Amino acid sequence: MTTVFAIANQKGGVGKTTSSVNLAASLAATRKKVLLVDIDPQGNATSGAGVDKYEPEYTILDVLLGEAGMADAVVITPEQSGFDLVAANGDLTAAEVQLLELDSKEYRLRDALAAIRERYDYIIIDCPPSLNMLTVNSLAAADSVIVPIQCEYYALEGLTSLMNTIEKIRSVLNPKLHIGGLLRTMYDPRNSLSNDVSNQLISHFGDKVYRTIIPRNVRLAEAPSHGAPVITYDPKSRGAVSYLALAGEILRREQTVASAAPSQQPPE
Ligand code: ADP
Ligand code: MG
Repeated sequence: MTTVFAIANQKGGVGKTTSSVNLAASLAATRKKVLLVDIDPQGNATSGAGVDKYEPEYTILDVLLGEAGMADAVVITPEQSGFDLVAANGDLTAAEVQLLELDSKEYRLRDALAAIRERYDYIIIDCPPSLNMLTVNSLAAADSVIVPIQCEYYALEGLTSLMNTIEKIRSVLNPKLHIGGLLRTMYDPRNSLSNDVSNQLISHFGDKVYRTIIPRNVRLAEAPSHGAPVITYDPKSRGAVSYLALAGEILRREQTVASAAPSQQPPE
């Protein structure tokens, strides 16, 4: 069984890309087969994974426009990353408009992923900072959404419209979509605002908030310029330890859900 995670929040700079790259690497470190799909024209997940944005022959743009299959666009990342990647770059900016003219415009990503989905245990989609057609495609293709939330002022602003969008996509496009969890990022325990935001999140969303907290850690900010996830750039850093813990929490949550589900086996 493959799980597709969309990492989404229409706010920029909340840790979507950092979480996408480092969760991909951390899940791969537990010997899972992982594909990271960059669907943000900024292409930060692509460069963070150590791949030159303009190098791959095909990117997610070609896949969305039907000019390449998903398998053709898969790039093997440098060994230190440990996962496969579908790249994005600035050319994707035009896709928003181009997609509107195509058939089944909301399902382009889901349909393209179908061809390779079974090769992976986890597929992680790094969404752009808006609720545009690229994000709609991501949510229509996903099983689960991870919402990174920067524990700072205004963090909760916009969360309602994100939740409404997720709800709408569930009812109209993708009934299996659910919220995997809200992830507290860039947490600074010395900052009382971090604690306030964290408490508010827990009182609103209860156990939808991941127990793992991602601290503010300079190693996480430095790693992309070395084209490596933090677990290879500085495996002992607090950033590395926290993303490995997140991967562990996600694996445990899945096991709990799987063991609570009714047996698929027919009675003997
Ligand atoms: P988004 O993809 O949501 O726009 P990014 O993951 O690119 O956000 O993060 C925004 C900036 O903050 C980047 O410069 C990144 O390196 C930095 N950053 C992200 N998470 C952390 C963290 N936990 N500690 C320190 N810096 C971080
Ligand atoms: Mg980003």
